[in-house]
Amino acid sequence: MKVFLPDDSALELDSGANGHDAAGAIGPGLAKAAVALKVADELRDLARPLADGDHIEIVTSRSGDDYLYVMRHSAAHVMAEAVETLFPGTKFGFGPPIEDGFYYDFDLPRPLTEEDFPAIEAEMKRIVKAKAPFQRSVMSIADAREYFAERDDPYKVDQIDELERQGEHEVSLYRQREFIDLCRGPHLQDSGKIGAVKLLSVAGAYWRGDEKNPQLTRLYATAFGKQADLDTHLERLEQARLRDHRRLGRQLELFYFDDAGPGFPFFLPKGMAVINAITEALRDELRRMDYQEIATPTILSERLWHQSGHYEHYKDSMYFTQVDDQGFAVKPMNCPGAILVYGSKRRSYRDLPIRLAEFGNVHRHELSGALHGLLRVRAFTQDDAHVFCRLDQVQDEVRSALDLVDRFYARFGFSRVEMNLATRPEKATGSPEMWDAAEEALRDALGDREYGVKDADGAFYGPKIDFQVTDSMGRSWQLGTVQLDFFMPERFELSYVNEDDDEVRPVMIHRAILGSVERFFGILIEDTGGDFPFWLAPVQARVLPISDRHADYAREVEAALRERDLRVEVDDRGESVGKRIRDGELAKVPYLLIVGDREVHQGGVSVRGRGGRDEGAAALADIADRLVAEASA
Ligand SMILES: [Zn+2]
Ligand SMILES: [Zn+2]
Repeated sequence: MKVFLPDDSALELDSGANGHDAAGAIGPGLAKAAVALKVADELRDLARPLADGDHIEIVTSRSGDDYLYVMRHSAAHVMAEAVETLFPGTKFGFGPPIEDGFYYDFDLPRPLTEEDFPAIEAEMKRIVKAKAPFQRSVMSIADAREYFAERDDPYKVDQIDELERQGEHEVSLYRQREFIDLCRGPHLQDSGKIGAVKLLSVAGAYWRGDEKNPQLTRLYATAFGKQADLDTHLERLEQARLRDHRRLGRQLELFYFDDAGPGFPFFLPKGMAVINAITEALRDELRRMDYQEIATPTILSERLWHQSGHYEHYKDSMYFTQVDDQGFAVKPMNCPGAILVYGSKRRSYRDLPIRLAEFGNVHRHELSGALHGLLRVRAFTQDDAHVFCRLDQVQDEVRSALDLVDRFYARFGFSRVEMNLATRPEKATGSPEMWDAAEEALRDALGDREYGVKDADGAFYGPKIDFQVTDSMGRSWQLGTVQLDFFMPERFELSYVNEDDDEVRPVMIHRAILGSVERFFGILIEDTGGDFPFWLAPVQARVLPISDRHADYAREVEAALRERDLRVEVDDRGESVGKRIRDGELAKVPYLLIVGDREVHQGGVSVRGRGGRDEGAAALADIADRLVAEASA
């Protein structure tokens, strides 16, 4: 039989040959380096037989993500075996590879702590050293259920039931030594090929992410082919830990969470100062771009959500309530509100484009296990806007939104913006001609920019452009989006009156620059490590009187700077100046202004900049001018 290699060359093999044979036929070096196989984009064990005409790719330790996926998945099985050995009676949940590592969910006979990690790692090393082969077998659903039921592994039985509901008739199992797991695979040939492993953390996780289910223990770990790569990764994790926005949010008193509102953030005065600075800057832009700001209700009739299609597509993420015995829902998106505003009066072609902006607070249910600080919340504010225009106005509207993205992101130091055009998905509403016109309008608006194309990734109602930025740690974040929509204007029968007095449907553009203001704030905290650009700093300057007799003057300095719209506070606690300087630095206040006898006498301040930089004395009026200039830079 014949199989095809990535360069489309054919490889002649005996029938029944497997991945090992294919690698061996290419060369002995590859036979040794091979760890898995890719057949038409599906990862498989080397030992699986090939079929005539297969397009194959040999995965080796140089194959990047494919290699890491298979190796980490194998390491997860080894970790599960180690846990079973050390904690007999453990029951097993899911244990998948994830980005940057893998985890396994266990139902353990006793709680696990980080103190158990060395013993588990040592047991894993023993299994790796034993070079235990991973052996695949296939069982009928019924046999597999009986096997795991007998083993008293209820979560595996639940997985099997789920697979049966999905229409599977048989399942695959993998065994290394005495440990057998329900698993799709693929795996390395043996545990000896697993690289450097490190257990990272332990957390609670509800079975299938649902808090009505039992809570399991999730053990996070990672593995790399080489120790040096693992070390680099661990160093990065430590950096990320120091910048974790949840930790900094507490330390800098920006926001917090209370048990009374899981997933619903509480913003503290300093956090609100930053958020207000962001939204005010954006409102300035919107005013210049001739947007009009509106506010629409948080709770609206269920009827509306049926009409908009949100009920159908989104109901599992929506919160419902009753008003006067009628069904209502908390808005998960702002679009229907804006549509009602547009439709609230007769619109003429002369009014278009109509640009309605809304900083709308939306609620979406997330499973408790998915919540993550400000990055994944249940309530957030979208910097939303809906533009209603003619088809021939789309290009200009989109182009000006893209310019705004460039301009606005740059203010936060995000100079590298990646744009992706997502095109017509399989399930799409509207005619092919409409879609072609819309995609062409977006392409034209993108013009000379570099952009990627995500084929068939558009919304069901229209194509879109997504924006991504890279932060100081090299991590990529998806922020805003511009989407074209022909569907909602149709559903709500929106219209404007054209030159000939005919009623015509407008096109709707949904666009958000930041996406979620809360999430953007979280990303910004991690990107800056809390050292916000001066214009965003929650406290831009702190005045430190050297002793009590300078306190009145310190208040005068504070008042003079506040008069200039700067965010200033006085620290006149009975602590030493040295201690208060350290506290100011820990609070990441950009300027500490120290005042004593000399400063009172001269009507000035002693300036300490970021990083303890001593900038000497300055007259009050001069420092005020300088800070105002820096705030508007
Ligand atoms: Zn597995
Ligand atoms: Zn919208």
